[in-house]
Amino acid sequence: MNKSIENIKNSVSKKIISLSSHGGDIRRVFMLGQELKMQNPDLNLIDLSLGNPDVEHPKEVDQALISLLGGNSTAKENPSHRYMDAAGLPEVRNYIASQLSISEGVSVVQDSVYLTVGAAGGLQILLRSFLDEGDEAIIFSPFFPEYVPYILNFDAVPVICPCDAQHKPNVEAFAKLITNKTKLVLLNSPNNPSGVVYPRDHLEKIFAVLNEKFKSTGQVIHVVSDEPYSRVIYKNEIFPNILPLYPFSWVVRSYSKDLCLAGERIGYIAWSESLLKQLPFIPNTFRNASRILGFVCAPRLMQSLIPHIYHERVDVDIYENRVSEFVDYLTKNGFNVVKPQAGFFVFPQSPIQDDRLFCDRLVSHGVLCVPGSGFGSPGYFRASLTQDISLIEEAARRIVDCARAA
Ligand code: PLP
Repeated sequence: MNKSIENIKNSVSKKIISLSSHGGDIRRVFMLGQELKMQNPDLNLIDLSLGNPDVEHPKEVDQALISLLGGNSTAKENPSHRYMDAAGLPEVRNYIASQLSISEGVSVVQDSVYLTVGAAGGLQILLRSFLDEGDEAIIFSPFFPEYVPYILNFDAVPVICPCDAQHKPNVEAFAKLITNKTKLVLLNSPNNPSGVVYPRDHLEKIFAVLNEKFKSTGQVIHVVSDEPYSRVIYKNEIFPNILPLYPFSWVVRSYSKDLCLAGERIGYIAWSESLLKQLPFIPNTFRNASRILGFVCAPRLMQSLIPHIYHERVDVDIYENRVSEFVDYLTKNGFNVVKPQAGFFVFPQSPIQDDRLFCDRLVSHGVLCVPGSGFGSPGYFRASLTQDISLIEEAARRIVDCARAA
């Protein structure tokens, strides 16, 4: 009896168990908060753990959806909900291509746009399409924790390159990490968790290293640029477009953060027309990856929505004000914090080296933050400012109190 219970338990794949051990900090902290609130519903806990955007999505999204569903007299017919080309609706791909050709500084065509199930779905398709067993994929710390299990899932090897104290890529360290197994570089700017936009000159230096490798050995190293925060950029900040800077680059975007549609799972991969000419079969490779991964296609209704809301944004000033208040308060009180340029995350240095211990102590001061170790950067912690400003101010006070008590 006991043996069979054990056998049933052991029937779960060893690989998923080992992958699950990576990047678990965010969920662990969030679940801890849920548990504490269940035990004591009056507990005044401020949860800065999950990056779940809280500001209103633009009302134009709902209006466009109602219109698409025939809810007003101008709609000609109800939309189809059937299967379609896995790459997405041609008119939507074409629309995105025409907009990107204006905004990115390179020509993008219908066949170099592929609609995906959020940015995460786009990353899966790209990693499946480029990685073989033993291939190396370079990521920069701090990194989005899911990158590690994503890469390991395809039997490839995550290679971690550190950033400097400003959370910008250390280009010298990067150059030393390139080997004949390097297959791709996964960039994330604006960055989760630091909110930093990687400067153009750092990117150019990274691309110079890759170009030189290609020139001297013929080794193609793809750059996958994961950009779900590229349109949650603060005023006066500039986000460098990757496509014109490096020939083997792939941009991944989504509407999860800039339109607050994370639950609707819509995004895309885009690349240049000139890269498409060198890899004309790639849309079919992506179709096969989608099929094998089981996505089939991105949600059809959400695809249809894109041309109607492409230029809409959530009110990014709300995030910028929260971040600015939070960073100013912490900095005034002795914390070392790099000011973010986009998004709603802040990644301060922990006042004690043991970031996990500090986050545990924060719980007893009524704040949930995620240790930097989970992002590959011990000695820091992440605060997701997806709460009302009054709670964020209170959280900042509690964090400072906790540091003083430490
Ligand atoms: N990449 C980064 C850096 C993220 O922070 C997230 C979500 O938090 C994703 C990808 C996944 O985005 P999406 O919800 O569009 O799949």
